[in-house]
Amino acid sequence: MNSVRERFLRYVQVETTSCEANECCPSTPGQKVLGEMLVSEMKAMGMQNAFMDEHGYVYGFIPAKGAEDTPSIGLIAHMDTSDAVPGATVPQVIPCYDGGVIRLKNGVEISGFSFLPDLKGQELIVTSGNSVLGADDKAGVAEIMTLCERLMTQDAPNHGRICVAFTPDEEIGRGADLFDVPGFGADFAYTVDGGALGELEYECFNAASCVVRVTGASIHPGSAKNQMINASLVAMEFAGMLPPWERPEHTEGYEGFYHLTGMGGNEEAAELRYILRDHDRTKLEAKKAVINAACEMLNRRYGAGTVSVELKDSYRNMREIVERHPEILERAEKAFRANGVEPVVSPIRGGTDGAQLSFRGLPCPNLSTGGYNFHGRKELIPVPAMEKMVDVLVSLVQSAS
Ligand SMILES: [Zn+2]
Repeated sequence: MNSVRERFLRYVQVETTSCEANECCPSTPGQKVLGEMLVSEMKAMGMQNAFMDEHGYVYGFIPAKGAEDTPSIGLIAHMDTSDAVPGATVPQVIPCYDGGVIRLKNGVEISGFSFLPDLKGQELIVTSGNSVLGADDKAGVAEIMTLCERLMTQDAPNHGRICVAFTPDEEIGRGADLFDVPGFGADFAYTVDGGALGELEYECFNAASCVVRVTGASIHPGSAKNQMINASLVAMEFAGMLPPWERPEHTEGYEGFYHLTGMGGNEEAAELRYILRDHDRTKLEAKKAVINAACEMLNRRYGAGTVSVELKDSYRNMREIVERHPEILERAEKAFRANGVEPVVSPIRGGTDGAQLSFRGLPCPNLSTGGYNFHGRKELIPVPAMEKMVDVLVSLVQSAS
């Protein structure tokens, strides 16, 4: 049997950084390299039906054992890693963390994080300081693969049908796009893609994007009096009309925001790009109304057509779907508690593939992987947390009868 540690160390060395600029799926070839690896490992365990489709989605199935009439449970993790930092990972193992400052190979230091003292005495896996670790989400991949191996052994506990999927391009928001929900055939699923051990998430933002375009009236500045409408300044005026305290840097928990992601312009034309986020759908609609009101006010001031706004919905909070199936959350809470882990339910301040899948008929909350500091060079994961997550997954799929 391969340990979850061993699997993780192997998977993180495959470069699978996804790339938004590439239209193809998967967006980068390394993801298929990892996909092939996972398929052959699943086949070696005896999962003869494992395969990777043309888009790099990996699927594998384990038939029910002694619990044929119980629901089919899906488990999902993503193979790509964030492009925020390079992805060619050379993992480093700290056999017994002393609780102090962690010095990475390249001199970067990990210190001052409130979770660090609790990890004292544990085996940690960190980066060399030059890349992400990729625990997001190769820890999820390794944990699900280790679960599969356990379920394929003779003395595995009774369980219903298990459906496993490893998706490409989650980090660039496309992980659910080509997911074959009917082919997957699960009644419900869990993404294993969260952080600290015990995280259980089923709420994400409602999300919209917004492009504000300003058309000015350009004229030589020497003869501009009462003639010029400087589009860049009108854009700044627009930005000033949105509540400054409702920005990402001033919000947390269930507080939504307007986030300016880009801007550009001159006297004649200017553009502002925003993303709008709120867990509460009504409050997101209110944010859209503020945007439209600002646009109208500036058009009254400078003339019709000076400012135009294009609003688009991006994704929705999966809470409304998952809440209809409380047993899915209860099952996860029970699985954590059965292994001495107190579940921590908190809202995701972002989106998740699970949200899109939930609205496509596959309710899909998110579980922890055990990792910390995702998307950065200081990413790390304690080995005992991964081992615990494998136990949690075993409890999760185990049939009650
Ligand atoms: Zn992730």
